[in-house]
Amino acid sequence: DLNQLIREMIDLLDLEAQNKNTRIVLQTTSNQMFVHADRQKISQVLMNLISNAINYSNRESATVTVRTSLKNAKVLVDVEDNGMGIKPEMLTRIFERFYRVESSRNRNDGGSGLGLAIVKHILEAHQENITAESVYLEGTKFSFSLQKAI
Ligand code: ATP
Ligand code: MG
Repeated sequence: DLNQLIREMIDLLDLEAQNKNTRIVLQTTSNQMFVHADRQKISQVLMNLISNAINYSNRESATVTVRTSLKNAKVLVDVEDNGMGIKPEMLTRIFERFYRVESSRNRNDGGSGLGLAIVKHILEAHQENITAESVYLEGTKFSFSLQKAI
């Protein structure tokens, strides 16, 4: 149940979020959403995306929205924030290993620039893709899908 897994990840990250005046919400069209996927690996995907969304927020009160919905044989997942956003010329590179946008602006955390490369790798191993859309200084949305079960 992907929604259950998302709720668990939100619980794990909630204290970190509260410390940054950020709330994390799950919006879904159905209570349970079963997928065919590696539970541990998808936890890692959610962890990396949600902690990025918390980390790169930069505003007084931020919201991270995790959205799940059904489309044909897939469950669609969005992780959206209203944070600092990413300039278009950098958006094309964020899935590269060790790439960090203006590493100086991220001085608050010692990230290595591997999180999104791992996310992409895990989803590719599931025969899935991930896309990112961003408006600089407004926010960023990552979207991926997983194979629906049942
Ligand atoms: P780590 O290996 O600890 O995850 P990281 O967070 O720097 O380090 P990635 O998760 O791969 O590495 O992200 C790459 C870069 O993309 C980040 O350094 C950051 O500049 C940018 N980025 C990622 N997610 C967001 C986001 N939600 N909003 C704005 N910028 C982001
Ligand atoms: Mg990261």
